[in-house]
Amino acid sequence: MQSRWNDDDARTYMEAAVAAGQDPDLGLRVYTSRIIGGDPDLVLHGGGNTSVKLSGESGADIIHIKGSGWDLDTIEAPGLPAVWLKPLLAVRDGEKLSDPDMVALLRKNLLDPSSPNPSVEALLHAFLPFRFVDHTHATAILALADQPDMKSAVQRIYGDRVAFVPYVMPGFDLSIEGDKVYRANPGCEGLWLENHGLFTFADTARASYELMIEFVTMAERELAENGVSIAAPQESDGAADPAFLANLEAVLRRNGSPFATDLCMDYRSTPAIREHASKAEVAAISSRGTVTPDHVIRIKPWPLIVEPGFDKDKIASALEDYKERYRAYFDRNAARAAEPKTMLDPYPRVVLVKGDGIVSLGTSAKAAKIGGDLCEQATRAINAAEAYGRYTPIAEADLFDMEYWSLEQAKLNVGR
Ligand code: ZN
Repeated sequence: MQSRWNDDDARTYMEAAVAAGQDPDLGLRVYTSRIIGGDPDLVLHGGGNTSVKLSGESGADIIHIKGSGWDLDTIEAPGLPAVWLKPLLAVRDGEKLSDPDMVALLRKNLLDPSSPNPSVEALLHAFLPFRFVDHTHATAILALADQPDMKSAVQRIYGDRVAFVPYVMPGFDLSIEGDKVYRANPGCEGLWLENHGLFTFADTARASYELMIEFVTMAERELAENGVSIAAPQESDGAADPAFLANLEAVLRRNGSPFATDLCMDYRSTPAIREHASKAEVAAISSRGTVTPDHVIRIKPWPLIVEPGFDKDKIASALEDYKERYRAYFDRNAARAAEPKTMLDPYPRVVLVKGDGIVSLGTSAKAAKIGGDLCEQATRAINAAEAYGRYTPIAEADLFDMEYWSLEQAKLNVGR
């Protein structure tokens, strides 16, 4: 993976921050957040998060952390709200906080109460004792993070430089676990999050960013040494069958569907998508779950799978099977939840057409495109994961906890 660091650009961001009365490091934080966000093989659409720790006016430490509703590629200083650091560090060795209590703690300590909610990973950023912290869902990392038992492989690839964090739910639990692993491996420069992604940290913006690029490159090399190459992001080069799309639309617009009045479809067929969609076992592979936990809130745990020539009746029947399966998934998992859950609509967000392409569904063009972008990256990661070993993302129970996590559902409703 190529570094996008450019001294002139970095200086421009630093000077702009100073001209706006801000710390030059906040300018650099905006800059490296944007070059991370500009690479679809690092993060996509609101994925990932970044932070910088600075001294506030009173001399007390503050942390600027990505705010909910912002994308890294277009972030500006207001998208990195400032939070007092000390009260966050106070919960490091304390009692478990509930989600609402964690959000309340973060909001209470915002310097500007009108700021967006700090990222759900804010506490882990706060605990890590470095000025800059970067977190991504890089494609090459996901191809390896979604494998069974990677702990010893991570040790072999990175030595003591990257410490392995077994899968744990994002938010408070991940913050506590990640911090524990960091403290047990105090010389490490990154955290490998099983089934999820990577953190890097350093005292300069450039060092933390370059560590991210270096560690992703090492993952690419590990894949290459095993004969696996990760395709670069691909544009769609196939045309959808108009008759099929018309049939799909007719079925999705029926009464009771969330798409009855508003339906946007994003059709893509790339070499990677066709490779994935042509596998004999594509139904089993794509049933295993999403490449990183975040994705489940946008694209549901699995796609609806259909054959290219399906007419309306066959699509409708496949859709009924999907809805039944989704209800069973909900019932199974809601039964063990601590608080009562309300089922979301049981409709798919992604339709995989065997051997052909992927149709992402949304009630807006933006939602459909986001789904398409996530699937474009996911198919490249899944193809590489299957070529390397066995694609093994988080288990169903963890997918459910993520999909029905109140903090994640809130993300869908946040505007800029
Ligand atoms: Zn993440």
